[in-house]
Amino acid sequence: MYSFPLYGVNEDCIGCGTCTRVCPRGCIRLEDGRPVYDYTDCINCMACAHACPKIAIKLICVKEPNPNARYCNPNITLAELIQANRQN
Ligand code: SF4
Ligand code: SF4
Repeated sequence: MYSFPLYGVNEDCIGCGTCTRVCPRGCIRLEDGRPVYDYTDCINCMACAHACPKIAIKLICVKEPNPNARYCNPNITLAELIQANRQN
């Protein structure tokens, strides 16, 4: 859906793969322990950015007023989010 990069991953990434598992469109894969995005099917839901435990995923297409502001619904566990968004 997007032909330009939306997100950048900074040096705080620990290669946990959470971003790859919460993406509902299968846009992210780990390559040598680093996330690699394919924006072809991205819907810019920001699930990857919000779920990253290191807040390592930043928007690069726009300037974020507060790049450390991330939200996870306290009533939904990470496992539930992954299950709901899984691709297969
Ligand atoms: S969720 Fe964050 S720390 Fe984990 S692999 Fe993705 S970018 Fe790196
Ligand atoms: S914004 Fe949503 S659809 Fe796009 S890569 Fe992140 S989790 Fe996947």
